[in-house]
Amino acid sequence: MSLKFNIRHLEQHNLTLNGELAPADLELESLDELIHFREPLYYDLELQKLENAVLAQGALRLVLHCECARCLKPFERALALDHWACHLPLKGDEKVDVVNDLVDLTSFIREDIVLSLPQQPLCQPECKGLQNASKKLASGGLEKKDSTSSAWAELNKLKL
Ligand SMILES: [Zn+2]
Repeated sequence: MSLKFNIRHLEQHNLTLNGELAPADLELESLDELIHFREPLYYDLELQKLENAVLAQGALRLVLHCECARCLKPFERALALDHWACHLPLKGDEKVDVVNDLVDLTSFIREDIVLSLPQQPLCQPECKGLQNASKKLASGGLEKKDSTSSAWAELNKLKL
């Protein structure tokens, strides 16, 4: 599925489009190994015909399932582009493809979603990363060392 609208329907009046797009439709799946797309993108858009263009504006919302780049903890983050707007020229070098009167908005939405993704997803801005985990690991290591050294002590006793 892709998000298409019929340009002829815009001649008389504005169009409202709302619904959802699967991550697969937006080709988002293998974009970033720390960001998983498991939920559909919701769109609520109004389309308006300008003189030589179409203006699409409205809201795009998507829940991201992320893994923290520092501590690897999974967390969810809502991506909300509530004032998304896209200007689609119908003339000139940049003009959009119109196939059987249909214009496909999918790639424009995809582009802006990709630009809005976190560069480095963090569970919280001040995430200290694996510090806590490594501390635990270190103390675990210490205990192990203690038991090893006591084992050595026992061995030494035996030798004596
Ligand atoms: Zn974190």
